[in-house]
Amino acid sequence: MTIKINPQQSRKINALIRQLCCNCVNGNCLLLDDGEEHNCVQLISKYGVYCNYFKNAVLPADKELFADVMKTCNEKHCRICGKVFIPKSKNQRYCTE
Ligand SMILES: [Zn+2]
Repeated sequence: MTIKINPQQSRKINALIRQLCCNCVNGNCLLLDDGEEHNCVQLISKYGVYCNYFKNAVLPADKELFADVMKTCNEKHCRICGKVFIPKSKNQRYCTE
């Protein structure tokens, strides 16, 4: 399942990568380096989190952003009123109201 991000989160994520990701050199990813340089997958992804290394090792370093991204990814729309809510269990389909 892809973790979706909004443009605001994408901007913060890119800043975080350049600051913290030890595989990111000048926007290129060392993990993808096979003799040729490859752009960091995450830096060019504006709508989702696609790098597992980033997700597991870099993103959690920024607790606020991490919580924010995870919150967005867990959000559901109520089947009845359409309101966005965070389900407390996997099967919850309606907001508490
Ligand atoms: Zn509802």
